[in-house]
Amino acid sequence: MHIVPIFIEGFFAFLLLLWLIPSFVYDKIWDNILEYKAHKIFKPEWRTILTEKVRFYRNLSPRKKKEFEKRLTEFLINYRIKGVELPLTDLDKILVAASGIIPVFAFPTWYYKDLKTIYLFPDAFTFKHPLIPEGTKVNGLVGYGQMKDKMYLSLKALTESFEKDQDQQNTGIHEFLHLIDMEDEQADGIPESLMHQTYIKPWRELIKKEIERVCQDDSILNDYACQNAAEFFAESGVAFFENPKILQEKHPELYQMLVRIFMQKPS
Ligand SMILES: [Zn+2]
Repeated sequence: MHIVPIFIEGFFAFLLLLWLIPSFVYDKIWDNILEYKAHKIFKPEWRTILTEKVRFYRNLSPRKKKEFEKRLTEFLINYRIKGVELPLTDLDKILVAASGIIPVFAFPTWYYKDLKTIYLFPDAFTFKHPLIPEGTKVNGLVGYGQMKDKMYLSLKALTESFEKDQDQQNTGIHEFLHLIDMEDEQADGIPESLMHQTYIKPWRELIKKEIERVCQDDSILNDYACQNAAEFFAESGVAFFENPKILQEKHPELYQMLVRIFMQKPS
């Protein structure tokens, strides 16, 4: 009586094995191809640029620096970076990639699924969109609809973000944090793809409390964080990566929650 079910179970187990082996082998082959490509693409002079311009990289251990370099080359393989009537240098592209890698550095398999191309404008730019008042100049933009798969950045703002790296202004990281937040199709300040479910409720409550502090001028975060939960998440993330010690001192609860979200303690 049990022969048939056992046989069927065995047959399905065999099919599962057949499916698992190729997918495992395929993943392994793809990882090796990516690693090989990354190794071939990375230029030694990029290490100098990273050391000089990216404090986050400079503060990493030698092993983590290697990891950052691998992630950098993978980023350049996965996404296109284009200048809008602007020739781009390696430095420009490295700063874009660094902005995208820093917030998700603790997540080695992270991939920005809603991003294909990053466009760099020379300076702040105007953009035709129903939600943007005509003539308003912006430094960075991501969104839904016509803006899906794209990020727009001002090269001037991006460069200054890394030159003055502790002023809590980082256009690149700010926009990538919006993308992370929007992974679940909602710009609500809750990056569910990074967060453990148990932290969502306390994070939502903390956002309310901390936004009030920003709006009442009782916070080290930029005033822009007062606008809504999405801007609060982007601005608190920038403060976390640019001024972690001050954030920890003045907003310990917020700092601890951001450590849980980003799974790292930047220095
Ligand atoms: Zn924003």
